[in-house]
Amino acid sequence: MSREEKPYPPERAKGPAGEGPERGTTRDGSPRVLFVSPEASPLAMTGGLGDVAGALPQALLRLGADVRVVLPFYRGVRKRMEGSAPVLTEVEVPLGGQDLRCAVREGRLGRVPLYLLDREDLYDRPNLYAAPRGDYYDNLERFTFLCHAALRIPGALSWTPDVVHCHDWQTGLVAPLLKGPYRGDPSVATARMVFTIHNAGYQGLFPAEKLEVTGLSRAECYHPEGLEYWGSLSLLKAGAVYSDALTTVSPTYAREICTPELGLGMEGVFRARGDSLKGILNGADYGRWDPARDPHIAAGYGPGNMQGKSRCRKALVQETGLDGVPGDRPILGVVSRLDRQKGMDLLAQALPELVALDTGIVILGNGDMRIQEALERAAAPYAGRVSLRIGFDEGFSHRIMAGADFLLVPSLYEPCGLTQIYALRYGTIPVARATGGLKDTIRDGENGFLFEPYDAGALAEAVKRAVRAFSRKKEWPRMVRNAMSADFSWDRSAALYMELYEALMGRKAGGVSAHG
Ligand code: ADP
Repeated sequence: MSREEKPYPPERAKGPAGEGPERGTTRDGSPRVLFVSPEASPLAMTGGLGDVAGALPQALLRLGADVRVVLPFYRGVRKRMEGSAPVLTEVEVPLGGQDLRCAVREGRLGRVPLYLLDREDLYDRPNLYAAPRGDYYDNLERFTFLCHAALRIPGALSWTPDVVHCHDWQTGLVAPLLKGPYRGDPSVATARMVFTIHNAGYQGLFPAEKLEVTGLSRAECYHPEGLEYWGSLSLLKAGAVYSDALTTVSPTYAREICTPELGLGMEGVFRARGDSLKGILNGADYGRWDPARDPHIAAGYGPGNMQGKSRCRKALVQETGLDGVPGDRPILGVVSRLDRQKGMDLLAQALPELVALDTGIVILGNGDMRIQEALERAAAPYAGRVSLRIGFDEGFSHRIMAGADFLLVPSLYEPCGLTQIYALRYGTIPVARATGGLKDTIRDGENGFLFEPYDAGALAEAVKRAVRAFSRKKEWPRMVRNAMSADFSWDRSAALYMELYEALMGRKAGGVSAHG
């Protein structure tokens, strides 16, 4: 049987019944991994973290890991599961001096077991983190609860993880909890902790007076070497300081967050981690993002058969009403959160220049109201040339990826970026700012176009270069071929995470040094 064909669950080194929690690793030496995430595609996502937490566990499972995911049972998850998530167990979760009961429901992400925290008062809301007017007032409570509950599940299931892998500030408290209140809990005390930063711009800041919500000791944790950050609590810092290994989602971003420009005040914290900070590039879930088998698009296509792409382009023109764009001129696509980080303010400024290149522009995004209004104002004079749709629409994002000729990603900073990776597979050439993971996935003039200065002129200049290449009979097909043959599948990245887990578990020479 090949590694790909391992049965689920992997066989375990199991002691006789009544011996207490299962200990150690799976019999073949693969790690047991508790994955704690505030998002997991396709059930709950606001961005790339959801994509990662949906796909990486499945890739780890293919490599033999016994991986299980913990996720809040948000309203959207409840709706999607339609009663198909039975209660598996119950845990008692401490929160600000109280013990709250929580039903843990069981679902699946592909073949990966999913543990869903059912607490309506905390998670049954229209959105994951915020109402239109701002963040939910009790996000500290909601995500402290997630961290404690995740650490209670192994005991309730008599399953002992080797590694707890957490993601972004929402799960940042797991590391100090493991090293503090849970250090005597045999179900989790021996676990090593990996913390992955998907975006250092979201630092999980809360008033210092609320420390007691977390259950952490002020004396042990509230100081500059702990989770104190300029007089506030930072949950991102908690994960970064107390984890055994710290990762981020591309090698370039791992270097960038150690600089004042992109460390956003935390650069000293990241620099202090030295070699235990690693950049592991995200992968693409080619099961969901494959132009040959994409149920959302008008026609399938691949490198040897590109007629389908022309049909997708026609369908996109029709769907968006871009009837003012000549058939031989390129369509520029944008699929993005509307946020300054994503360079959407640059896009609004550059729009007239881009339209002047005789292009059509399709934008899908949601987020910041001011950026939305700036884009609406910029697009208004160009009916039939610019289409702006506000919202989060997965099907439409696929149709843009397939029907556009270029994808614009003018980010101020970009930890990894997934849309450019999807665009490459769809033969849609990315035009992007040279930062973070965009730099690690795009080669200027080979499979895309990069620009350096963060200004609208530089974006327009890069689009000009791209449009020139589009009309060159030889250069264009070569770029499209290069793009479509790039391979960013998860298996490669998952293998790097497995190496990291194994190094932490001390079974490989040259392991990652523990911290704290
Ligand atoms: P980030 O996580 O910073 O938002 P990424 O590029 O890593 O950026 O991931 C964004 C993910 O969210 C991609 O899968 C992208 O297709 C998706 N996405 C972003 N905005 C939208 C939208 N408005 N509608 C549908 N999908 C979107």
